[in-house]
Amino acid sequence: MKACILNAPARIETNPLQFREVAAPQPATGEVLIRVRACGVCRTDLHIVEGELPPRKSPVIPGHQVVGTVEKQGEGSQRFARGVRVGVAWLHHTDGVCEYCRRGEENLCDDPTFTGYSVDGGYAEYIVAPQDFVYAIPEGFPDEQAAPLLCAGIIGFRSLRLSGIKPGGRLGFYGFGAAAHVAIQVARHWNVTVYASTRDARHRKLALELGATWAGGTFDAPPQKLDAAIVFAPAGEIVPAALAALRKGGVLVLGGIHMSPIPSFSYDLLYQERMIRSVANNTRQDGEDFLRIAAEIPIRMHTQIYPLSEANRALNALKNDAIEGAAVLRVSE
Ligand SMILES: [Zn+2]
Ligand SMILES: [Zn+2]
Repeated sequence: MKACILNAPARIETNPLQFREVAAPQPATGEVLIRVRACGVCRTDLHIVEGELPPRKSPVIPGHQVVGTVEKQGEGSQRFARGVRVGVAWLHHTDGVCEYCRRGEENLCDDPTFTGYSVDGGYAEYIVAPQDFVYAIPEGFPDEQAAPLLCAGIIGFRSLRLSGIKPGGRLGFYGFGAAAHVAIQVARHWNVTVYASTRDARHRKLALELGATWAGGTFDAPPQKLDAAIVFAPAGEIVPAALAALRKGGVLVLGGIHMSPIPSFSYDLLYQERMIRSVANNTRQDGEDFLRIAAEIPIRMHTQIYPLSEANRALNALKNDAIEGAAVLRVSE
């Protein structure tokens, strides 16, 4: 099969992904083989390619927003029939026995594997995944629309949940990439007022088009104090600015897997019962709940499509804020 392989992390400007022929995987017991149709491009892929996340498998095929059809069932893998359209997300497998899994917090599992990081992902024509961690994709979403729902969508949704935002509340977004693009649609569906802070003028325009009440620069104070804010941009210097925008008792959620160091700040910014919390991965329940809501709304994504062979170009564009909405690799028709 054709795939984009990362042999060793390097700056994306050096185009480190190699597009070449590799052996297709075979499904083990409990797994399915999926013929990939589309794979979303996530900022986490960029962190993996550039080595900000330490390598777990090398070489590795990135990609964890995978939509395709079941090509072959491994032994005991009858959950999805051949030909059914399914999705594979970041959480590839959990041990099911650690204290976190037993508590229903499998996103915090002590021994997880992650798609496109600790196992090969979807920048390829085929992928294998445990059937219990595979999602049915609702009808009504074209492949390239469904793919970014699987990480940008699910993580954006979990971030919204952890923010505790209520209908009619005031919510800030810092950074307006693919996750915010989805989360704003859910927030508007819940009648939440959205304030978008981002360094990029095109992203501010997009936020207003999607129903934000206000859009400003990253460090501009929103016109109202916020009940909650979500930082999607991986820049630690945003944290004090976002805290300063919160009302007393407000919640700040950090939605990324990686962030540059957070500068020290005055305790006054945190005092009055403001809270900061991170988001780590997602549970399968988050995924199922989000996909159901996404179909109800229905979520619409701006996408920029690239052929599989041009994954480096897509990641370069992502790094340079040149993607409106989500970048998606078209792998097969
Ligand atoms: Zn576990
Ligand atoms: Zn992701």
